[in-house]
Amino acid sequence: MDQTSTFGASRYTLRDLQLFSGADDPAVAAALAPCAVMRVAGGRRVEDGLRARLYIVLSGTLEVAPDAHSDGDGGTETGTTRVLPGESVGEQAVLDDAVNLAGMTALEDCELLVIEPELVWQLIDRSNVLARNLLRLLSFRVRAAKVQLRQRQKLGEFYRQLSLNDALTGLYNRAWLNEMLPKLATRARQDGSPLSVVMIDLDHFKRFNDTHGHIAGDAALSSAASVIRDSLRPSDFAVRYGGEELMAVLPDTHTRLAEMVAQRLAERLRTAPVFPDMRLPLPHITGSFGVASLGPGGDEHTLLAAADAALYRAKQAGRDRVCI
Ligand code: GH3
Ligand code: MG
Ligand code: MG
Repeated sequence: MDQTSTFGASRYTLRDLQLFSGADDPAVAAALAPCAVMRVAGGRRVEDGLRARLYIVLSGTLEVAPDAHSDGDGGTETGTTRVLPGESVGEQAVLDDAVNLAGMTALEDCELLVIEPELVWQLIDRSNVLARNLLRLLSFRVRAAKVQLRQRQKLGEFYRQLSLNDALTGLYNRAWLNEMLPKLATRARQDGSPLSVVMIDLDHFKRFNDTHGHIAGDAALSSAASVIRDSLRPSDFAVRYGGEELMAVLPDTHTRLAEMVAQRLAERLRTAPVFPDMRLPLPHITGSFGVASLGPGGDEHTLLAAADAALYRAKQAGRDRVCI
């Protein structure tokens, strides 16, 4: 027999197979010639027991579900991989003698060349070209798996960012505050450094909505958020923790300085036009500000309660002002 021999009743030859490309060794062709050729109708699963075997697709397309042990090898987003004519599946299972749990389904009528593990090892011993092709294939799969992992990590990070940011204003949201404020409070206590917050509630915002409409209300809220964010230092955080309730979190900041920051925010908010469209009259909005700092023995709860009480006093005293 020579390398042009076909496998079983199929019309395929050695040079059609990716793993054997360049292996024009008649002995290899002869060893493969008696291998079984399995025919699987389109839509059917490949039922071949649990033994690890190497399968080479001769015709048709095979879909391989992610292995229960290793989460896919460079497949699509759902983790499935398509195996096309000439390509192989199961080489890793054969090499590490794992049970091949991956589900394989024929997407269309398929012919599969089935190679038993003993023969794979014999062929590796016999053919340097095969050994080399196998190494190259495994290296490609490891690389593809790494790329996929990196993409998933990036996607995970993206969704995490999304879940911690408010969609309307782009500020951090309440989930961020719940996660980060306890950490900032703990760090401040450990370092003996100050931590202050400025709680902000927009004044008469219901009236603003009633007068200008909810869409304009959204735009005003967004402008107010930008004013706050753009007035802070890079080490500070701007948060939207409720409807028209914003907050500045100021690490390493004493009460006095926090009060000055709040005064600056109040001033900028008071004077910022809230509609960028100059044809419209420019309503301005104001806010009430409550400042508090982490006290000795205090935590994030006492800090927020103190800021809330200060904000209440600012509302009671007539709004558009800062209270401590
Ligand atoms: P006060 O000065 O006492 O804070 O008065 P207020 O009207 O701002 O207070 P209140 O808490 O009664 O109302 C807050 C309003 O803010 C009501 C709500 O419709 C509006 N609001 C909250 N979230 C949003 C939002 O995302 N978009 C818009 N357009 N309005 C919002
Ligand atoms: Mg409110
Ligand atoms: Mg309000």
